[in-house]
Amino acid sequence: MSEFDTIIKGGTIIDGTRTRERYVGDIAIKDGLIAEIKEGGGLDESNAAKVIDASGLNVVPGFVDLHTHYDGQLLWDPYLSCSSWHGVTSVAIGNCGFGFAPAHPGDRERLMLSMERVEAIPLETMKQGMDWDWETFPEWLDSLDRRPKGINVMSFVPINPLMVYVMGMQGSKEREPTEAELAEMLRLLEESLDAGGVGWSVQRLGDGFTSVQRDYDGTPMPTDTMSDELCFALAGVLKDRGQGFIQLTQAKAEFTADLEFGGDLSDAAGNATILWNAVAVNERHPHQHRRMLEWVNRQNELGRNIWAQALTTQNDARFMLDDFNLFDGNEAWRNVTLGDIPERIEKMSDPELRASLREDYDNGSSPFVSGPIGGIFIDSVVNKENEKYVGLTVAELGIAMDRHPADAMLDLSISEGLKTVFYIAPFNWDKDYMQEVLDNEFTIPGVSDGGAHTKFLNFGRYPTTMIQELVRERGQYTLEEAHYRLAALPAIAAGFSDRGTLEVGKAADIVIYDYENLKLRPITIAHDLPGDEWRYVEIADGYRYIMVNGVVTFIDGECTNEVPGKLLRHGNAAGVAKAAE
Ligand SMILES: [Zn+2]
Repeated sequence: MSEFDTIIKGGTIIDGTRTRERYVGDIAIKDGLIAEIKEGGGLDESNAAKVIDASGLNVVPGFVDLHTHYDGQLLWDPYLSCSSWHGVTSVAIGNCGFGFAPAHPGDRERLMLSMERVEAIPLETMKQGMDWDWETFPEWLDSLDRRPKGINVMSFVPINPLMVYVMGMQGSKEREPTEAELAEMLRLLEESLDAGGVGWSVQRLGDGFTSVQRDYDGTPMPTDTMSDELCFALAGVLKDRGQGFIQLTQAKAEFTADLEFGGDLSDAAGNATILWNAVAVNERHPHQHRRMLEWVNRQNELGRNIWAQALTTQNDARFMLDDFNLFDGNEAWRNVTLGDIPERIEKMSDPELRASLREDYDNGSSPFVSGPIGGIFIDSVVNKENEKYVGLTVAELGIAMDRHPADAMLDLSISEGLKTVFYIAPFNWDKDYMQEVLDNEFTIPGVSDGGAHTKFLNFGRYPTTMIQELVRERGQYTLEEAHYRLAALPAIAAGFSDRGTLEVGKAADIVIYDYENLKLRPITIAHDLPGDEWRYVEIADGYRYIMVNGVVTFIDGECTNEVPGKLLRHGNAAGVAKAAE
């Protein structure tokens, strides 16, 4: 028997602590944990069953992504691509209050219908890819525990299904809970946290222009319009337990009130950690991210544990009007982008609805996720005769087609069965503004939304963006800082006690990559989803080995088919469900 399972030899170790500079050394692994680290190298190879030569390569802690929507995908893809392709070894699911537990069997279809629009996961994919074998949240965690996983997973308790389970979809959208319903929700939350849920999550985007992720019928989701009182009651559970944290996605139109609410919620939760979502640069309105960063700093000065999850990859997106939903915060656009293709075409052809779109355009109002419609590009077309429009903006398309730009956009799209592809260029990528976000002590990189909006974008690439562009090309972080932010910081914020740095005793979640040659490939379409559906994917070259709990899952992008991932109840591999009383 070898003393060690694996030795990683001669790599440049960047341990994620940020306090220690990179050094060359060997790492020995036993039973999924880091057993020994030797600076300068020299661990005896004959002591290991397997040796990985990492000379010339960076050896870093696996990345931790706290904002994903892989709840459904986990049931058909144990590797949670694209995140796992970019070195992510642990994720949090159940974000933004969305998920599938608890769920009465009769509500399954309805919850999938919501998920199809709020996070834009194809309905057919969920129908075919999800084999439901749970009702309660504890049963859901047990189900995840049993399933093969190529990556570690922890889950928030999402509040939308909890509200729907107790109050029904209609009731939870239209009224406050009765005393009995509130008591039942709090009981279920306790039960879910006992089972290993790491806290709870909500999306509160209100009913205004920032409400971009709505239900399939265009109405806000239950948590979007839930009362502050209900939030405080749920927070009280964490306060009483002295355990768990809150993932909060909040951007209602009344922005300052939102920030105040964040502080109040922290107090109600007994100073539990709050993951605030999201800080994103908007080059047209830099005061927005500045105001949020100032607020986060102030909260921490006051002793509150509030972290800001920050979008640190380009916020570009592609879409076709056949299923695009992210204009939902804008009434005129929402009106014409609900329903199936024939319904949409009918509404887009309606003179009155057209007039409201032109008026919207002329008033300079612009959807929250895209900025002005006139600045959106024509990315690709279906019909040959329209190729002359590719590369134009919608404003330029109006001139070329000699009509109002809103009409031009819709006429072109309708003539192609709504399959024209439009492109929103990134507007968060200014170097100086991004530096302000990166420099803040309390920002966690990411907001990948992994598993969601996959016909529009793939922010799951963010670790690669960080290393390739923000560190190597722009010099905005040192590698020590980058690897602290990509692994240790989210682990600290989310209460992982057993991973996030390369230190003896920590889980051997390790990424070994070629720094100079790490490179993102262009975005492509993959037809690899259940239900014959497609998604955008991005692959990176340069990740040589990706290791989860000491077992290699990818070598040069090739999956080894090993499934060493664990369910992290209470945020760590040793966490167990509390026995039912
Ligand atoms: Zn989300």
